[in-house]
Amino acid sequence: MKGLSKLTGIEISADKEVLLCYSFDSSALEGSLPSAVAWPKSTDDVVRIVKFANENNLSVIPRGAGTSTTGASIPLKRESIVVSFEKMKRLLEVDTGNLTVLVEPGIINSRLQEEVEYLGFFYPPDPASLEISTIGGNIATNAGGPRAVKYGVTRDYVMEIEAVLADGSVVMAGSKTHKRAVGYSLKDIFIGSEGTLGVFTKIRLRLLPRPMEILTLLVTFKDLESSGKVVSKIFSSKIIPRAIELMDRFSIEAVERFKPCGLPRDIEALLIIELDGNPNSIRNDAEIIVDVCQKLGADISVAEDTSSKKKIWETRRAISPALYYLKPFKISHDVVVPRNRVSQLLRKIAELSNKSGIPIISFGHAGDGNIHVNIMVDKNNQEEYLIGSNLVKEIFEITISLQGSLSGEHGIGITKAPYIEMEIGKRELELMRGLKNLYDPKGILNPGKIFGA
Ligand SMILES: Cc1cc2nc3c(=O)[nH]c(=O)nc-3n(C[C@H](O)[C@H](O)[C@H](O)COP(=O)(O)OP(=O)(O)OC[C@H]3O[C@@H](n4cnc5c(N)ncnc54)[C@H](O)[C@@H]3O)c2cc1C
Repeated sequence: MKGLSKLTGIEISADKEVLLCYSFDSSALEGSLPSAVAWPKSTDDVVRIVKFANENNLSVIPRGAGTSTTGASIPLKRESIVVSFEKMKRLLEVDTGNLTVLVEPGIINSRLQEEVEYLGFFYPPDPASLEISTIGGNIATNAGGPRAVKYGVTRDYVMEIEAVLADGSVVMAGSKTHKRAVGYSLKDIFIGSEGTLGVFTKIRLRLLPRPMEILTLLVTFKDLESSGKVVSKIFSSKIIPRAIELMDRFSIEAVERFKPCGLPRDIEALLIIELDGNPNSIRNDAEIIVDVCQKLGADISVAEDTSSKKKIWETRRAISPALYYLKPFKISHDVVVPRNRVSQLLRKIAELSNKSGIPIISFGHAGDGNIHVNIMVDKNNQEEYLIGSNLVKEIFEITISLQGSLSGEHGIGITKAPYIEMEIGKRELELMRGLKNLYDPKGILNPGKIFGA
């Protein structure tokens, strides 16, 4: 690619082997090979790369760890530069008096968690990809995780974002203060923008004190729908656990084949229910939850020590990769419905699976109504693949009919772009497109994402 020499001092590669590694992400979609991959080390480096791209009509694809499941981090055309944040991953400041932390976007979520927990603090957003995904990617997708039930999603912890806009100018959105009422919240517009409005270079996050105690329950069910009913019954008992995660019988089967953990195989579903806080209030809440679960015919066990808690969460986080042990391909979407509609969603998806003959596996953040729906199809079997692909629209229709949303956390990327109008009205879409044009008039930032080609 011509002109790259203008970027002297910045690590950059146009080697085919390298380009190939940055042409796909966890969506299993194949993108185009970019023209180059750059690894900036500072905001100034990012400014130079973006200005160069702007002047040469190249697309800029910001990239964290490439764990996007919607194709949000893959280049769609040859004339593009992937800006990888692998080398901008420093924890810059922990402000204990203000309960904030300043980081570079490439820091891995679990590393941030460990660093602040060591000091007695807590950063709640915990996507199941926390061992690999970056804070920059988490913000660009507004990532959630099991603990979102009680603590909310990434948006709730972002205070300030330094971003490079498409023309190379640098903006500071948000503030260091915990409250602010000055004009529009530009920071909130960046959150969930999937690399289409600006490239984040520094991020200030809010911290909490580390919870005193954590109690983890494993609840097993003989029927799937009862697991959904338990979710709304817990909330109507005025209890907010920190996590309520669902595994249906197929996901249990998949994990047991992938990494045997000794989960019971004669059940239809299990919930991981976790409480945290003051030991006395946890015990009271746990008693109420046990009562609710037993009334719905569930069996309950308690994870007694740290290693059994760790094992339960490793099991939960293994589901996504484990599903490939059932079929070589899956079409997965993370639909979300109001919490009291989870059992209806699970029932309707099970009916769809029975009717079509295609296994559809449900698991995920049941406490938030956010279910990962996995249509298990063989991509090499044309007929099966077509039936499976057509089920996506039906699942979205069911979700919308339950007043839900197409994505609870993974975003739109490429895979959901064709369906966005099922949820977002014409006028609202015009406003979103208007923002995109304002921030990025030439359309160089991560083109083709959210709004389609
Ligand atoms: C096994 C597995 C489990 C998962 N579990 C969850 C889960 O529980 N919850 C959840 O929310 N998601 C989950 N995901 C999806 C994914 O991990 C998240 O979307 C994550 O936030 C992406 O982070 P990343 O660093 O990999 O970003 P990437 O995939 O590299 O990028 C994602 C988006 O962010 C943009 N981006 C990245 N860095 C920047 C930056 N510095 N500035 C501007 N834009 C940027 C990219 O352009 C792209 O649009 C899971 C994925 C996998 C594979």
